[in-house]
Amino acid sequence: MYTRIDIKITFRCNNRCDFCVQGDKRDIYHDRAKARVYADLASAYKKGTRGVVFTGGEPTLHPHIINFVARAKQLGYENIQLQTNGRAFAYIDLLKKLKTAGANEIGPSLHGAKPETHDALTHAPGSFLQTVTGIQNAVQLGLTVITNSVITSLNYRELPALANIMVKLGASQYQFAFIHIGGTAGKNKKWIVPKKTAVMPWVKKGLDIGIKNGVPCFTEAIPFCLMKGYENCVAERIIPEGAVVDADKFIESYGDYRRTEGKAKGPLCPACRYFKICEGPWREYPEIYGWKEFVPVKDLKKKRS
Ligand code: SF4
Repeated sequence: MYTRIDIKITFRCNNRCDFCVQGDKRDIYHDRAKARVYADLASAYKKGTRGVVFTGGEPTLHPHIINFVARAKQLGYENIQLQTNGRAFAYIDLLKKLKTAGANEIGPSLHGAKPETHDALTHAPGSFLQTVTGIQNAVQLGLTVITNSVITSLNYRELPALANIMVKLGASQYQFAFIHIGGTAGKNKKWIVPKKTAVMPWVKKGLDIGIKNGVPCFTEAIPFCLMKGYENCVAERIIPEGAVVDADKFIESYGDYRRTEGKAKGPLCPACRYFKICEGPWREYPEIYGWKEFVPVKDLKKKRS
């Protein structure tokens, strides 16, 4: 598996999502300077990195986004992705320019099956329609489209309908990511965080649709003990290893960061057969709901003896 570098190039965004984990940075940090992004790209490539994700904030708002993609391509990056709210791709000309420059993958976010749900979460009227149009344009241009939907208290009942939309639009892969309670999401934690056990039936119905239609589908930040029968859909098993260039820090290994700082495991977890490969929930989740939902999965060998 290639390693990948995630470069946060701006924290500006034309959405105002209630669940944004980066939302508190938008008024603090400027766009990352062109020379710094070029240096980030060169240094990671030198270390053997062959994948890059331009993210933020909304990366398409950075005035040099096309130059960044072109520089990545010129250096020899093989996988060049934009992690985006997808709205700018409603304008197909921009997408064509990015593709010509070397982008081959986009990661747009859709957070509701109904326009009113998505637009309520993004606080951007019309954003649902723009993102859906952006996905259609990307599929039409032959780009790999890996969508992300953040699971919140407002949208979890729509996950199966959302999965149907992804399949119909021709997404290459879709993911349901359980809300990470930081940034703006942290400020909204009293109402926006559902209980994992409440969302799981909807998550599983949503995954069934992808599985039935042969579209790879995953969940993020939902441990194995809640994913019985869907263990192959746990995204942490396949997330490429790599570094993160943030505004105020450089994380050498995002995987190590998640396992040692970002996520946590509970008091009963050492008895679980998945203990070694499971990352646990984001650590803020049990601060709200405790550890009762996370029941260790017994070791099959021990069960038989
Ligand atoms: S290690 Fe803990 S959180 Fe992970 S699957 Fe097992 S019980 Fe669940």
